[in-house]
Formats: sequence, structure tokens, C-alpha cells
Amino acid sequence: MKKTNYHIHTNYCDGENSIEEMVQMAIAKGFDNIGISSHAPLMYQNDWTMPENALPQYFNELSQVSQKYQTKMKVFKGLEIDYYLPNHDLSPLCKSCLDKLDYWIGSIHCLGLIDNGDVSYIDDTKESLQKGIDQIYGGDIKKAVCQYYTGIGEMAEKFHPDIIGHIDIIKKNNEDHYFFDDSSEWYENAWHNALDQIKKAGSILEINTGGAFRYGLRCLYPSEAILKEAIKMKIPLTINTDAHSFEAIDYLIKDALYYLSQHGQDTLMVYNGKDWVSQKI
Ligand SMILES: [Zn+2]
Ligand SMILES: [Zn+2]
Repeated sequence: MKKTNYHIHTNYCDGENSIEEMVQMAIAKGFDNIGISSHAPLMYQNDWTMPENALPQYFNELSQVSQKYQTKMKVFKGLEIDYYLPNHDLSPLCKSCLDKLDYWIGSIHCLGLIDNGDVSYIDDTKESLQKGIDQIYGGDIKKAVCQYYTGIGEMAEKFHPDIIGHIDIIKKNNEDHYFFDDSSEWYENAWHNALDQIKKAGSILEINTGGAFRYGLRCLYPSEAILKEAIKMKIPLTINTDAHSFEAIDYLIKDALYYLSQHGQDTLMVYNGKDWVSQKI
């Protein structure tokens, strides 16, 4: 079985290590096939995505490093691209990048713009999320969460990302049910509708261990209920570590594989340079 990871950040965005350092660590850890997926430029001012003017260099460096190590491991060209809830769209810049990529991860990190030109982030602080709920959704948390999952479903339906990033990252700030009860029927309906769209679109759902590495197991995406349902629905899966430093490059992969095999999942998706194909676990 090929050891893979298609969600890897670098110092082009908020990762700590260079593309080459991440690739060298992946080789040392026995990966066969990886993808680099820095955060694509965001339409909003921020300090965590790649700036627009760095994109050409990112693509060049990725090609060089991928060639340099081609006999040891396959390195594919990816980006983690934001879908914008207020616009129901990707940015024009990101759309123009899609044909330069081997694959891309579609994610939602922002609720949208709030006062003073700030951005309300889903996965930053509680305060940032709360401001978005208040200013964009009139204080209605249920509406905000439902819109998030509607956005995930829409993104799948409209753009067919190769991989859907951290599907339930909206729970990151929800420890002890701070914002909502994740066992409530409306919440289950919201993520279930998103899974239906993902299934129809043919996108791959990632098991993302990056949040667990940084914030503990509560931030393993998706939660067990969603993952069990995805397995039942036969949605194609892959295991990604969303690594922002080389220490995280294979975090929990073995455990995730064990979990999947215990739950009857016997395949994972691998990119072969042309297509995504299913491999036996
Ligand atoms: Zn992300
Ligand atoms: Zn990421």
C-alpha cells in the first residue's frame, strides 16, 4: 500500500518549513506519494496565506523539488483553496490557477468580512467566530453553522474539488458545546446534506489529523459520526495530516488506518499523476 499525504503546508503560507524540508522529511518517513498544498492567496488581507505575488515562485520551486526527488517519491502540485460563503464562489485568481495544479483541496476558513475590514474566521479565536455570527448572521449560530455546511455542499457541487478539506472545522471552537450541540438533529441534517453533495460531486473526503496534532483529539476531522456515515455512503476517502511543520507529517496516519480497517473501510484514494485511483488498505 502506498503511503500518501496530500495536505502539506510550507513557509509559502503559515507552515514552518520549506517545500524541500517537507519533502525530505516525507522521504525519511517512508511516504511514496505526497502533495504540497499551501494556502492559496485569500481575497482578504491576512497573514496566513500565500501572497499573490509568490504564486509563480511557488509553482517553480514545486516543479524543481519534485524533479530533484522524483526517483525517491512522487510530489504533486496542489493548493488549499478557500470557498467564500458571502460570494458563493472561489476567487477569480484561484479559478485561474486550477489548470496549473495536479489537484486542489477545497476548504472554508472564513465566515466573511466584518467591521473595520476585519475577517471573521471559523478556525481562529472564539471572538473572531462570534463577531461573524453576530454581524453576518444576526447572532444566529444555527444559521451560521447551517450556512457553513451548505457552503461545503455548494463548493462540491459547483467546483468538484479533488479533496474536501477538514469538513467539520466549524466544531474547532465548540469545545463543551460552547456554540452549539453537535448531537442536535439540525446539526446532523446540515453535515448530512453536505455529505450527499460530496458523494454526488465525486470529491474525496479527507481524514485530517492536523487539528489533532495542534489542539488535541477533539479537533480530529471529521468527527466519528460523520466519518461512519461517509464510510456507509461509500464516499472516497484519503488520510491527510494538514502538516504545518515537518514533525506533523505522518501524525496519526497509522491510527487512522487502523480505525478505518476496524470500521470496514478497505480502500483509500491515491493520485497517480493523472487520476485518483482506489488502493486497498
Ligand atoms: Zn485548512
Ligand atoms: Zn490546511
